[in-house]
Amino acid sequence: MVCDNLTVGANGHLYFAGLDTIELAKEYGTPTYFMDENKIREKCRIYTKTLKECFGDKALPLYASKAFSIKQMYRILSEEHMGIDVVSPGEIYTACAAGFPMERAFFHGNNKSDEEIVYAMDKQIGYFIVDNFDELAAVQAEAAKRGIVQKVLLRVTPGIDPHTHQKISTGNVDSKFGVAMQTGQALEFAKQALSMDSLSLKGFHCHVGSQLFDIEPLREAGRTMVQFTAQVRDRFGYTAELIDLGGGLGVRYVDSDPEIDLAASIREIADVVKAECAALHLDVPAILMEPGRSIVADAGLTLYTVGSKKEISGIKNYVSIDGGMTDNPRYTLYSSDYTVINAGKMHEKADYVCSVAGKCCESGDLIQEGVHIVTPERGDILAVCTTGAYNYSMSSNYNAIPRPPVVMIRDAKAYVAVERETFDDMICCQK
Ligand SMILES: *Cc1c(COP(=O)(O)O)cnc(C)c1O
Repeated sequence: MVCDNLTVGANGHLYFAGLDTIELAKEYGTPTYFMDENKIREKCRIYTKTLKECFGDKALPLYASKAFSIKQMYRILSEEHMGIDVVSPGEIYTACAAGFPMERAFFHGNNKSDEEIVYAMDKQIGYFIVDNFDELAAVQAEAAKRGIVQKVLLRVTPGIDPHTHQKISTGNVDSKFGVAMQTGQALEFAKQALSMDSLSLKGFHCHVGSQLFDIEPLREAGRTMVQFTAQVRDRFGYTAELIDLGGGLGVRYVDSDPEIDLAASIREIADVVKAECAALHLDVPAILMEPGRSIVADAGLTLYTVGSKKEISGIKNYVSIDGGMTDNPRYTLYSSDYTVINAGKMHEKADYVCSVAGKCCESGDLIQEGVHIVTPERGDILAVCTTGAYNYSMSSNYNAIPRPPVVMIRDAKAYVAVERETFDDMICCQK
């Protein structure tokens, strides 16, 4: 199976994180997101342990909140000694509501408004990751007004093409994120930051893309960032304490995807960074990484109930479920792969080929096409695997469909972390 938290019971049912999915569907209804807390903690520990082994105690993985941002997630991250990256006051608010320590929070985003800068400083955010020259001036101005010195990293674009989906590729010179190295503007960016007396420049950040199976782009990013750090030292006499290499390590969605050894990948990246530092006589900076998907994706599973089935002779079969692009827009957005399983019929042959469709009024509302599952009947439970990242956090109320609940499972005990939205929840802001 795609992840080791999936097993088959003697009763022919799919088990997730030690629990029978058919029983879970009965108890919590469908659609429902399930999250394996043990798996989340296991992944956090791989990052914290490996980064510290490679780079010492100052190294820190920052969980990329956007992948899955709820209060309970921040409590877990806090207990696991992770940092976080946040991209909006909403994420800051959620983290604060969970008691997450703001000194370990890094504020991202390519268009932080003045109000958002004020909000983040009010909350005493640890670091701003400054995206551009306008923002640099705005953060300096607000910090000066308060008489504080704000710690910042600068986001630079190393000009690396990670060969992933264009919409999740961010490290090219043509990107809305960061300041380009290739054009020389990144050096000017560093120079300006160093000249601002209410900012304390701590280092540099880059993020080359997401869902990477080939780690070469990340190794290259490490090498390029070290070279840039050395260049800044040589030009301006400033040595960065931190280099943040962003997120992006891939996750297995279907059996044909490779398995990624996270710890080994981190070590390989570390080797390149250390070798380059040695070559350039640079003290090895503390390395930060920003994993999102690789922390939560395979900790998630969504259960749906099959409704209608449509067999278009000679064309294809459609199987409709009680959710869709409102709870998982990723196939619609990026044609993302997912493994779909008829969860109550694991002992039967999966030889029915179909497209799994949602219930929205959009032809593009599909969860997956061309999947092989056991012939489904109305009322069967379908499991869609690896839905922990970019599902709940990308969900919507399109067609006035309430968001599913999030049920967490720890040590084979389930508990509700987010209630199912009600119709009243959906209209509560409406006059
Ligand atoms: C999306 C993003 C991440 C996380 O990417 P994953 O592929 O989920 O690991 C990290 N940092 C930045 C700046 C991002 O935009």
